[in-house]
Amino acid sequence: MVIGGGLAGLSLAMRLAQLGYGGRVRIIEPRQHYEDDRSWAFWTTRGSVWAASATRTWDRWRFSMTDGESLTRSAEGWCYAYVRSEEFYQAALRTIAGSPNITLLTGTRAADIEALGDDVHVSTTGHGGILTARHVVDTRSPSASQCSAATLFQSFVGHELRLSQPGFDAEQVELMTDMRCDARGFVFSYVLALSPTRALVEVTRFTPQPIGAAELAPDLESLLDARGWSHAERLRSESATLPMGLPAPAGAGTVRGVVRAGIGGGALRAASGYGFLRIQAWADSCADALVQGCPPVGHPDDPPMRCWMDRLFLRVLASHPARTPEFFLRLASSVPGPAFVRFMSDQAGWADHGRIIAALPPVPFLQALRARPRRTRLPA
Ligand SMILES: Cc1cc2nc3c(=O)[nH]c(=O)nc-3n(C[C@H](O)[C@H](O)[C@H](O)COP(=O)(O)OP(=O)(O)OC[C@H]3O[C@@H](n4cnc5c(N)ncnc54)[C@H](O)[C@@H]3O)c2cc1C
Repeated sequence: MVIGGGLAGLSLAMRLAQLGYGGRVRIIEPRQHYEDDRSWAFWTTRGSVWAASATRTWDRWRFSMTDGESLTRSAEGWCYAYVRSEEFYQAALRTIAGSPNITLLTGTRAADIEALGDDVHVSTTGHGGILTARHVVDTRSPSASQCSAATLFQSFVGHELRLSQPGFDAEQVELMTDMRCDARGFVFSYVLALSPTRALVEVTRFTPQPIGAAELAPDLESLLDARGWSHAERLRSESATLPMGLPAPAGAGTVRGVVRAGIGGGALRAASGYGFLRIQAWADSCADALVQGCPPVGHPDDPPMRCWMDRLFLRVLASHPARTPEFFLRLASSVPGPAFVRFMSDQAGWADHGRIIAALPPVPFLQALRARPRRTRLPA
């Protein structure tokens, strides 16, 4: 049984269908209908299956400060890809509909989970009642207490806009532009121009406490106003607060026979909040395990060097919000494009890590090495 038919749950179901898995799979999902509720973007190699199936790809990405300092970067052989959630959901629903042994129970919410004998019992609201399975993959979002251990929160809100006249630069992504630190901390703009008249425009903040979409709305309105996009047609909106540096779920307290996956299972990369490709890699290995008759697997631990680098980087960002724009600009200007992209895509080698370290000012990092990690708390 899979709890949650979001990115992780549907990715696993698709892989199982594609591999011809013969076991019975039920996916428990509260929503009744899937909407275009998010954009998944990530770096991938030009020849990859994700580059081929992406809604849009770009070869260049831009960083800039509010004072106008600006840099455009690229990486030979790589692109920045965007997958529209609506396209992903519809492809997954079609695949599941063609697999008689995989059922998506929409309008159903999982509540208590209990191990009884060799089975796991999941009580559900909706039309499920108590459902029983040998193995459960739980992809629900992390609880507030799990999130309280995150080092920083990445909160963003955005609109997909349509202009009546061309006004977006569709040749490059605004990855981190208008970078600055104000009274609430580090903030930047993110613009994915799908065409000269259509773009996703977002404002993002890194803060020690989560910020809701309503609180970010004035920042977004200021951005739209400054760019002359206030009167554009608003096609849809999206927002999120992603925990950065969330520890993997502790073994104690988890129910036997239940594996956590997705964000609650440690899917997000600590330093960036990116999770799409990490969830795809997990879905591949979890489906392989099930097809071979083994229990489902969770997300693998990050290698020690990546863990160490990410933890240190996040601690420095948390302690130096005013210098965060400078840190990102240094990374963009001093680290060669391919090394930067490999670092962001979990493919960095020792030499890439060395380039990242060399690009950053040593004093805040040495101070962070000596300091105790900060803990933040979510409101109850
Ligand atoms: C707006 C937004 C933009 C993002 N952009 C990017 C990006 O550009 N690149 C990137 O790499 N990552 C991005 N992410 C981060 C991450 O990739 C996504 O959040 C991704 O959807 C995480 O997958 P998931 O399966 O863990 O969670 P979800 O996709 O949120 O799925 C969790 C599912 O659990 C269900 N659920 C909740 N409660 C219950 C319950 N009680 N019982 C049963 N089911 C339940 C939910 O309805 C949901 O369908 C973004 C996230 C958001 C929210």
